Amino acid sequence: MIHKSIICLSEIEPKLNVASVFESTCSEALFEKVVVLDGCIGDEEVRILQCGGSVIRAEIREYHVIVDLEKREILHDCPDWARCVPDRSFCKHLGKIFLLIPRASAEDILRRIFVERDIWRFKPYLES
Ligand SMILES: [Zn+2]
Repeated sequence: MIHKSIICLSEIEPKLNVASVFESTCSEALFEKVVVLDGCIGDEEVRILQCGGSVIRAEIREYHVIVDLEKREILHDCPDWARCVPDRSFCKHLGKIFLLIPRASAEDILRRIFVERDIWRFKPYLES
């Protein structure tokens, strides 16, 4: 398990907490960045509500995440997210979710986000 051996880098170097997804040169590099994002969030703090079809829906601590592959948008609501939206970065919550879903799905979705990076939108999650 790749992420079991990862040191919690975000505690040592807070700047690594938010890594820009779209600076990555390939999807493999992108996945490695996501691994670095693991912000010492416990697996038990995450509830994956849906992972299949075209949507990933999760709750992590008191926050919500929706990754919609059809609409090509990511909705989330943590305080860091406002900073992530303009430069399309991932916060530690997004990183954690991609570490918890099956690796093959995570890589597939990250590859799609990378390839389609010009049309993906990062947006605030609004309670509906
Ligand atoms: Zn977040």
